[in-house]
Amino acid sequence: MAKTKANSAATSAAAQSQPETRVLARVATGLPTSDGAGVKLTRLIGTPALPDLDPFLMLDAFGSDDPKAYIAGFPDHPHRGFETVTYMLAGRLRHRDNKGNSGLLEAGSVQWMTAGRGIVHSEMPEQEQGLMSGFQLWINLPAKDKMIEPRYQDIAPGRIPVVTAPGGMKIKVIAGAFEGTQGPVVPGSTAPLYLDVALPAGAFFETSLPAGHSAFTYVHEGKAEIGPEGRTTILAPGKIGVLGPGERFQARSTGTPARLLLVAGRPLKEPVAKYGPFVMNTQAELYQAFADYDAGRL
Ligand code: FE
Repeated sequence: MAKTKANSAATSAAAQSQPETRVLARVATGLPTSDGAGVKLTRLIGTPALPDLDPFLMLDAFGSDDPKAYIAGFPDHPHRGFETVTYMLAGRLRHRDNKGNSGLLEAGSVQWMTAGRGIVHSEMPEQEQGLMSGFQLWINLPAKDKMIEPRYQDIAPGRIPVVTAPGGMKIKVIAGAFEGTQGPVVPGSTAPLYLDVALPAGAFFETSLPAGHSAFTYVHEGKAEIGPEGRTTILAPGKIGVLGPGERFQARSTGTPARLLLVAGRPLKEPVAKYGPFVMNTQAELYQAFADYDAGRL
C-alpha cells in the first residue's frame, strides 16, 4: 500500500515536471501581395490577420519560377531600428548598400542584417530565369540597440550545421541551438532560434523551446501535425502557426515528407512606432528617421 502511494506520488511528480508541449494557439492565412518593385510574395506576419508577434514584425515567403514575379527585385530602400533575416532556398540575390557593402545570397545561405541606425540598400535577383525562393523575417531591436552601427552576418550554406536525427530527419540550425548544436548567428537581445526541419514521411520531431519566448512554425513543404498528441493541428504552406505557451515543440509528418521552419525569440515588450521600413519606439523617433533619410544621413 505504502509502495503504491509512493509510486503514484512519483508518477504525478513526473507528470508535473514534464515540460508542457505547445499547442497551435492560432493559424493565420498568408496574404498574397507584392513589395519592392513588384516582387510577388506571401506575407505571413505583418498582415491584418497577424500584424506582429513580438519581437517578429514581418515574415514574407517568396517563391516563383516565373521571372516576372521577381525580376524587378527590391531597388534602393532604407531600414532603421530592426533586423532583416533573408534565408534563400533557391536562386541568387545580390545585396548592395550605401556603405559600400555587397554580398551574394545564394541558395541555402542566410543574411542576418542588423540595420541599427540605418542603411539604404538594394536586393536584386542575379538571375533572369529559374526558381527563386526563400524567406525574409524582420526582427525588432530593443530601444537600446535601435541606433547601433549596422552589422551584417553573411552566412554561407556550408557554415550552417545540419543535424541528422533518427529516422532520417535533417535539422538545419541557423540560429540558436538544437540538441547542443549551435547555429552560426551571433544572438542579440531577442535570443532567436531559427531551425529548418526536413521530416521524411511518418517522422516525429521534438525540441525544447524557451518558456515565454514567442514562437511560430511555417510548414513550407508537404504538411505536418503540430502540437502534443491528441491536440494536434495540421499545417500546410500558406498558413502560419502561432504557438501557445509551453516549453516543448512537437511535429509529425504524415504519409509524405514535410519541411518546416521553427522560429522563436524573446519578446521585447516595448512600445512600437513603425512606418514602412522604419521601426522605432516613439512617433518622434519615427519622424527623425524620415528626416535623417531625406537628408541623406542613413
Ligand atoms: Fe531591405
